[in-house]
Amino acid sequence: MGYRTNTCNDLNKANLGQTVTLCGWVNSSRNLGGMLFIDLRDREGITQLVIDPNAVPQVFEKAKPIREEWVIQATGVVGARPDNMVNTKRATGEIEVNVTELNILNQAAPMPYNLEDPKASDDMKLKYRYLDMRRSGLLKTLKLRHQITQVMRNVFDKEGFIEVETPILTKSTPEGARDYLVPSRMKVGGFYALPQSPQQYKQILMVGGVEKYFQIARCFRDEDLRADRQPEFTQVDLEMSFVEEKDVQDITEELIAAVMKDVKGIDVQLPFQRMTWKDAMTQYGSDKPDTRFGMLMHNITGIFAKSEFKPFQSVIAENGTIEAMNGKGLAAATSRKAIDTLTESAKLLGAKGLVALKVDENGELTGAAAKFFTPEEVAALKAELDAQPGDLLLMVSDISFRVACFSLGRVRLDLAAANNLIPADKFNFLWIVEFPLFDWDFNEKRWVAEHHPFTRPMDEDLQYLQSDPGRVRARAYDIILNGVELGGGSIRIHEPQLQATMFKTLGISDESARHRFGHLLDAFSYGAPPHGGLAIGHDRFVMLLCGMPSIRETIAFPKTAKAACLMMDSPSTDVDPKQLEELNLAVVQPATPQA
Ligand code: ASP
Repeated sequence: MGYRTNTCNDLNKANLGQTVTLCGWVNSSRNLGGMLFIDLRDREGITQLVIDPNAVPQVFEKAKPIREEWVIQATGVVGARPDNMVNTKRATGEIEVNVTELNILNQAAPMPYNLEDPKASDDMKLKYRYLDMRRSGLLKTLKLRHQITQVMRNVFDKEGFIEVETPILTKSTPEGARDYLVPSRMKVGGFYALPQSPQQYKQILMVGGVEKYFQIARCFRDEDLRADRQPEFTQVDLEMSFVEEKDVQDITEELIAAVMKDVKGIDVQLPFQRMTWKDAMTQYGSDKPDTRFGMLMHNITGIFAKSEFKPFQSVIAENGTIEAMNGKGLAAATSRKAIDTLTESAKLLGAKGLVALKVDENGELTGAAAKFFTPEEVAALKAELDAQPGDLLLMVSDISFRVACFSLGRVRLDLAAANNLIPADKFNFLWIVEFPLFDWDFNEKRWVAEHHPFTRPMDEDLQYLQSDPGRVRARAYDIILNGVELGGGSIRIHEPQLQATMFKTLGISDESARHRFGHLLDAFSYGAPPHGGLAIGHDRFVMLLCGMPSIRETIAFPKTAKAACLMMDSPSTDVDPKQLEELNLAVVQPATPQA
């Protein structure tokens, strides 16, 4: 017969009178009027067991010591609950099982914390992740994650993609983060790097003729962690040969539409909106704009070209940018303190300050900066922002276009959140296109790749690659959902000469390029097809679909912000000295102990 006849979510009035056997964990047990009631829980649900001491005295004796989370097997007859005992919230709420036989399959130690306590500490929940998993929504999330992956696999299969596994022990692939290194025993002083992404392998698979590749790929990046980052995470990674942007975007849209339909029952409108990076930056102050609400930003640099206002003047003199937005009708609702908080947000992203003006009932601008503006500037500003009495006008100026945009973009989001202007039930997908190929690193005073160094420049901008790199746009595209970057990709460079020029612009010498990427340049020299691809951050996608605040809640065994696994107690300093010896490694203690 096996361990059980049914799950704990199966039984209802249709099963009355049947003899069934269930297995699971004791969710709770209570003695009411001499009868024992046990809520038995398995993965699927909960069923109430009843043990009557008069009907089955031995079973009752056996059941007496049972505690929370013991594992039991119960056989009994399905009976109807009295009307006043029906639990309408449960699929099995109309019935109970009158137990005739009971097996204790395993006992459980007292729980280390109250599993039902919503305030239980995160550390406890992570240390006892398997207990947290039993009762919280985590199991449900893991199931949903499985479904999402399954839907995607089916789409890939239907479209002729081949799933290929690429190595975990590899060499650095630059995605802008620090590598995890693994020492080699065979090669003294040799280290593997864990892949930050399968980027180079998938491109080499194209050289190998695979044409359509995908992988549910584990990636590793040793970064300081934020709420939506984990040191190891999963990408839905794909690459295609003989394609242009639209081909990669089409398959991505098909994947997303299938998931939204099959998992959420939502029909998304295809194709998704396209927005250039420049528009996204100037209007939303973000390269991952949240388009669920308006409150768009405006570039007002031109209006203040001859400004008397010192902060604007100095920015204009250095070819900088002034961005402004209108918090429509929010003047009254936004206190001095709220503006201070918004200013702090702007400063976190590099702004020197935030200019805040309110439009009074006569249409006059009030606020410290207003007296420095000429009547013409005021008129032009009001016209540009459609300023009306009661509006709150916010401005950021900076010599860096990105700092001005990003800072005010942050303010836009914070102001909207503070005033509940962001609808929670919308799924707004869009593509950001025409990214710059490079970003200027003000600290290191050099160009860095906006995506990664394998991204192809737009043909019409190739001429500026060496003379004016800041002007070169990339054939790159990011897919955005509700202000979160779901994924991104690009058409790649497939010619060794162009790839070498790209490395040179990034300040990577020929020698260093040979050393680090010789394999790729070699592969490209043997007939690389034009190709392109994309990767979706799987954890993030699942997070958004489940409405979770962090990707941590979509991962079975996540790490803390300090990249530790509290359950396994890793990373561990408890390494056998012999192992270190074999690896020719010695641990040098830092001069000042780490926090
Ligand atoms: N490898 C890229 C990333 O991890 C994605 C891609 O370009 O396909 O972001």
